[in-house]
Amino acid sequence: MIPGNLKSFLIAEGVMAEPEPTQGPAFPALPSQAGALYSPANPDGVRSGCGNCVHYAYGERSCYLHDPDLAITPSMWCGHHVFSRRPMQAFAQRLPMQVLLPTFSGLVTVPGGVSCDHCCHYQGFVGDSPAGMQLTGTGVCLALVNENGQPVTVEALASCARFEAIS
Ligand code: SF4
Ligand code: SF4
Repeated sequence: MIPGNLKSFLIAEGVMAEPEPTQGPAFPALPSQAGALYSPANPDGVRSGCGNCVHYAYGERSCYLHDPDLAITPSMWCGHHVFSRRPMQAFAQRLPMQVLLPTFSGLVTVPGGVSCDHCCHYQGFVGDSPAGMQLTGTGVCLALVNENGQPVTVEALASCARFEAIS
């Protein structure tokens, strides 16, 4: 081990080469809003859940996209949520299609529904109500970036596939 002052001297004299800069761990780039299936706030001001998703089939308590044998309740949610005031009713016949796997859809149970202001990546503006209490407005999402690599502004009642509930 060469002492630091001796190493500096040897580098200055050209006896030793400058050490290569140390490489830190590479951080993966954050996705854009499109890359995370960002959905603006629902038009009725209610948080997102299976109960207001077009893919929900009340008659069977199931989701049209997941395995029909999977018990899905209105207080669940996944990243494929599409708002509708009239979710699908049970289908007499389901189209032959490959089902979504909960492992990949992000299916979770979220009492009260899903929204950015209930997400750990959401930063409300100064002056907002405490996290979890805010029903309107906007904030900054630290999990998504715009084309310049900067955090994006999101609606408090929006949602995306990167949602993670505040613990
Ligand atoms: S599991 Fe996803 S796609 Fe299916 S009803 Fe719920 S939110 Fe909609
Ligand atoms: S705050 Fe959470 S739910 Fe909202 S856009 Fe960001 S990651 Fe998605």
